[in-house]
Amino acid sequence: MDKEKFYITTTLPYVNADPHIGFAAEIVRADVLARWARQEGKDVFFNTGTDEYGLKIFRKAEERGVRTQEYTDEYAARFDDLKKALNLSYNSFIRTTDERHKRLAGDFWKKCAANGDIYKKAYKIKYCVGCELELTESELVDGKCPHHPGQELELIEEENYFFKWSAYADKLLDFYEKNPDFIVPAHRMNEIKAFIGRGLQDFSISRLKSKMPWGVSVPGDSEHVMYVWFDALTNYINCLDWDKDFENFTSIWGTKESPNAIQVAGKDNLRQQTAMWQAMLMSAGFPTSKQILIFGFITSDGQKMSKSIGNVVNPHDLVKKYGVDAVRYYLLADLKPFEDSDYTEEKFRAKFQADLANGLGNLVARTSNLIEKNELEFDLMRNSDQDLIIKFRNEIQAYHFDEALNILWSKLREMDEYISIKAPWKMTDKAEISEVLKIVAQNILNVADLLQPFLPETAEKIIQQFSAKRIKKGDSLFPRL
Ligand SMILES: [Zn+2]
Repeated sequence: MDKEKFYITTTLPYVNADPHIGFAAEIVRADVLARWARQEGKDVFFNTGTDEYGLKIFRKAEERGVRTQEYTDEYAARFDDLKKALNLSYNSFIRTTDERHKRLAGDFWKKCAANGDIYKKAYKIKYCVGCELELTESELVDGKCPHHPGQELELIEEENYFFKWSAYADKLLDFYEKNPDFIVPAHRMNEIKAFIGRGLQDFSISRLKSKMPWGVSVPGDSEHVMYVWFDALTNYINCLDWDKDFENFTSIWGTKESPNAIQVAGKDNLRQQTAMWQAMLMSAGFPTSKQILIFGFITSDGQKMSKSIGNVVNPHDLVKKYGVDAVRYYLLADLKPFEDSDYTEEKFRAKFQADLANGLGNLVARTSNLIEKNELEFDLMRNSDQDLIIKFRNEIQAYHFDEALNILWSKLREMDEYISIKAPWKMTDKAEISEVLKIVAQNILNVADLLQPFLPETAEKIIQQFSAKRIKKGDSLFPRL
């Protein structure tokens, strides 16, 4: 029997700035799900990459006086560097400037056109370059984009191609009705239903090349390039080379009867991922995604992170200072996945000190030290706590990353108390000492087994250390700050 396939993708970050902590949280959560699926014996396809077209990038490169491709090459490399920095396990990194992506975005366009969903009309809109989105009057706050109040909206007036999104309003609502778990958390589902309920407007999917040449060419029309969102969204299936082996593609992406693709995104991507992209898939005759997780934002000391405030947190800097697993732990344990969470370095350090240096690190050091000193020998079992496994699995399946870790840390705290109460360092009978330490060591090993998708390096070290017959004191896992 073939292994069960598991597909997961992040959104593709737009390469107009360095990676920030919000994207780090998104991709680390995806990485946990990918690693967990592998641990459960599934065959995993994990995609990420970079979104590189559009007006914003075109202008940034112009400002800097470099070729646009050169500019995006530099940023794409910085995003791919996250793989090492955050110990990510993705196997696919697609850039929207890749040849195959451009070709397949064109083929995708042709399928929508063949289905009668693409037409040309004169176009006059208010456009936010910050969002790379057109805004309707009802979305404006004081005549400005609510996300970019410092930026003037641009008026675009030209003949463009349009996608018949309006034809998909009922189909999307019907689809959500039949798939109530399609969007996690449920309140985001209500939000998108309400948005569609107010009526869908067809959206423009091209720009005049003479005004904005930085895009994928529209098939059969040399005067137009694709609107950046249209081409970029198709990456999620282009990374699977759907043109080459369709059967292989559906075995991973899923079929209409049995969709299989999990997508993760920030809450600013709700409309694009759950409604635009799904309508595009329906139009081109592809199966929809299976589920879309919509994460909350991370604020910095109560404020939105932005370049102008200068409070953007770069994950590379944090990893350099505290180490990869400390950063992964913070992102997964301290932030609420589906709500907005606030970051400060103070909170980061407090969590590090309490849970890693004093919690896990201290218990592992104390236990291994006592075992070595008393020259004990154990034959511990792997994954021996079924109750712990079930509780932990339930939380992961609900995507409660923080709660899953909380279950493991409760077990560690329980062991801390146990060892303190028993005080084996005061005992004289070796059999008695051995009995106490074996229980603690076995529980540490059980925790480490489950910790692997979250803190891969740390879990591996503990597993190595505690599966040996003679457990020895190792290096400090998380030295106190
Ligand atoms: Zn905006």
